[in-house]
Amino acid sequence: MALSAEEDLGATVNTFQPDLIVEVTGACNRACSGCYAPNVVAKDSTEVFAKRPELFLKTEALNDVLSEMVPVEIASIRGGEPTLHPELPSIINMVAIRAKEVFLETHARWLMEENFIPYLGLLKAIKDNGTIVKISFDKMHGLKAEELQRITHFLNWHDVDFRIAITEPTLADYMETRSLCGFIKDEKIIYQSMAISADELVKPTVGTINVRGELKATLNHKFNVAPELRVAYA
Ligand code: SF4
Repeated sequence: MALSAEEDLGATVNTFQPDLIVEVTGACNRACSGCYAPNVVAKDSTEVFAKRPELFLKTEALNDVLSEMVPVEIASIRGGEPTLHPELPSIINMVAIRAKEVFLETHARWLMEENFIPYLGLLKAIKDNGTIVKISFDKMHGLKAEELQRITHFLNWHDVDFRIAITEPTLADYMETRSLCGFIKDEKIIYQSMAISADELVKPTVGTINVRGELKATLNHKFNVAPELRVAYA
């Protein structure tokens, strides 16, 4: 999505235009004010997976829909928070077969976990497939600059590529947030204008595979639940 006052920045702003979005879960373990999706907020991913399996994309359903599709250039895996899905490594492997470039959209707190053992399989799938970790860094997501520094250091150490997605409503807000992460090179930054209506959301060119395993032309099957909310492409 282009920045409306892009020329004011005096530089080209990186944008993000996926061909395919794969929505792997409607659950999240954060509760950001302004989140567009009526996600279930769950601290314990094991419990929510057991109690609300309908909130998680089944790998069989994903396989069915992917096998009917022609390959795409860019796919983006997202949620909710996709890392709550216990089969995310397999999902990454499956999507990577059908897309040249795969992004994993995340709030990235898991990359600061003291006990990283539960995430070793995920890290392996990311590395094996050259998946790009797309980290939300803006006022809504509330990740601190020092936390982002720690996370990006970790990713660099493991030779994992990443992008920092800044979603803000105005150019001034963007500049303010961008100034907090000056240690990140411009080429790694994606600006996403905060949308206030469905029309302003980035539309994947092929569509979205929702948590029910349906390929839809719309961005998110839950969007209409709360259209009055201020929405962001998280
Ligand atoms: S904005 Fe992202 S991280 Fe925050 S509650 Fe929504 S899905 Fe979770």
